[in-house]
Amino acid sequence: MSIDRRIGILGGTFDPIHRGHLDIASQAEAALGLTRLFVIPANVPPHRPQPFASSYHRFAMVALTVSERPGWRASDLELRLSAPSYTSTTLLRFHDRGYGPAELFFVIGADAFVDIGSWKDYPKLLEFAHFAVVSRPGCPVKTLPAQMPQLAERMVPATPHPSSSTEPAIILIDAVTADVSATAIRRARAEGQTISGLVPPKVEQHIEQHGLYTSTVPGRRESDRQASPAAGRLHGQSGQAS
Ligand code: ATP
Repeated sequence: MSIDRRIGILGGTFDPIHRGHLDIASQAEAALGLTRLFVIPANVPPHRPQPFASSYHRFAMVALTVSERPGWRASDLELRLSAPSYTSTTLLRFHDRGYGPAELFFVIGADAFVDIGSWKDYPKLLEFAHFAVVSRPGCPVKTLPAQMPQLAERMVPATPHPSSSTEPAIILIDAVTADVSATAIRRARAEGQTISGLVPPKVEQHIEQHGLYTSTVPGRRESDRQASPAAGRLHGQSGQAS
């Protein structure tokens, strides 16, 4: 007996994960009847501009978020690689695990999808999964056929419980998502404003508890300024700067 699997994949930097991500994933889940959703934080290799929070914190925040949603999973698939995160590589790894292209739905905001022409393995990667493209405030999916005429033929509206035996398509989901970005959240934190309601409560608690995004320098926190003299001794140092 074959099980009808419809696997959603949401990739991103998640620096931090926020309401917009929850909305885009929930809208895709509802519109497509997803049976599972993997949220996959991207690995940013050392030679690229770094996210503000470490991979560990970004993964922790994703894990806290999915813990409240039964069909969702946090995946460390991209963080375990030392290589940059390419969507094509990730989708092929799902194929290696036995998922067919028509069972996979790569969930993406319309703002990100318009750049797909510059992605590794374009246009071949469009055969590796369905691309479920969701409107983002200021970037509605209805403008995509005119913006990307070369792909317009492959664009279809979302139908509930699509058959997983069809050819991969570009599925347009015109839904409302929160008008929020990770950039705006980091800025709000750095300026000492509240981020309540912009991120899940557990994520807000994590950000506050660990002092994330209080500095505009990636990886730094305000608390790092007051180096604890005891910290060096833990590692057997004498206390002098080394
Ligand atoms: P940043 O502000 O740091 O660029 P971001 O808020 O755009 O980050 P990402 O982690 O880069 O978040 O986004 C991951 C995916 O989520 C992308 O496909 C993006 O289009 C989508 N997305 C993010 N925010 C929203 C939103 N508010 N509505 C719809 N889609 C969103």
